[in-house]
Amino acid sequence: MGIRSKVASKTRCPSCSLRHEDCLCAELPVLSTRLCLAIVRHVNERYKPTSTTPLVLRAIGSATVHDWEGRGVPMPLSLPAGDSFLLFPRRDGPAVPASDLAAWPRPPTIVILDGTWRQCRKMAHNVPGLRELPTISLPPGPASRPAMRTQIRPEGLATAEAVARLLTAAGDDGDPLFAVYRLMVERVLKSRGTWDRAVRDAEPVTGA
Ligand SMILES: [Zn+2]
Repeated sequence: MGIRSKVASKTRCPSCSLRHEDCLCAELPVLSTRLCLAIVRHVNERYKPTSTTPLVLRAIGSATVHDWEGRGVPMPLSLPAGDSFLLFPRRDGPAVPASDLAAWPRPPTIVILDGTWRQCRKMAHNVPGLRELPTISLPPGPASRPAMRTQIRPEGLATAEAVARLLTAAGDDGDPLFAVYRLMVERVLKSRGTWDRAVRDAEPVTGA
């Protein structure tokens, strides 16, 4: 355990990474899905309190996380040929709609990238095996607001929100995960004292 994580463990819940008073563990849903979810996380995201990957891992026991530390560092990722997809918007080649996964003959493996837009783009290119994967597209729609950060993930969705949409599109129920993600946003922004302002800013501007 590094110095950083030792300090964090005194003030933060080791399971959900939030401050003890904001702990979400009692609210976490238990979800099951036939999708094999593999989160490839940029190593810089690992200790960020605003990372939503811990929520996904706790809610979906079968989901796995693999930290990308850069080229040359081995990363065991199991990507069965013909049944593996990358959740990432690529310009070249058509994407498979997530709704097609519901009737996929074998349980599909879906790689989800966790990092900034720039990090995700690099990981899609450099992590062995990902460049060759067909991509999955989510139903279009804006990210929910308020959010804890901007500039996260290609679609502007937090990881937990992207996974919730993926589950629902693929015929599972992603709503409980989305609900606990919204709760996390609220608790984190309230702990920073920015919730009220963020709610105001998120309201659509109406004409006078
Ligand atoms: Zn917790």
